[in-house]
Parts: sequence; structure tokens; C-alpha cells
Amino acid sequence: MLKTLLILGIIALIIWFFFIKKRPTKTNHHPQADSMVECQKCKTFIMQNEAILSNGSYYCSKECLLQG
Ligand SMILES: [Zn+2]
Repeated sequence: MLKTLLILGIIALIIWFFFIKKRPTKTNHHPQADSMVECQKCKTFIMQNEAILSNGSYYCSKECLLQG
């Protein structure tokens, strides 16, 4: 009876360990995926990972980059 409880406890610990371990790796992979940036030309907010970065400024498209 005690052995069964011990095994169940170890299984629970393993599940908990994997659940905790998976969370930080997910956020570290895309740290800026959710942040929005403003286009220097048309002032539209776009996702940082979709924006074009030029001379420290963000642009929503190639058209804005060439005009700005
Ligand atoms: Zn733009």
C-alpha cells in the first residue's frame, strides 16, 4: 500500500516537473512575438516580428520603408 502511494507520488512529480519545465521554454522562444510596434510612416501598429526594421525605426511594409 505504501509502495503504491510512493509510485503515484513519483509519477505526479514527473508530470508536474514536465509541466513546469515546458512553460519557460515557450516564452523564451519568442520573447517579442506579442509586442506591437508603430510604423514610422503611416503610424499603423504591426506585430514586431512582421515589421521591417531600418535604422532603428519600424515600418509596416516596403512601401512605407521607401517613402519614410
Ligand atoms: Zn506603414
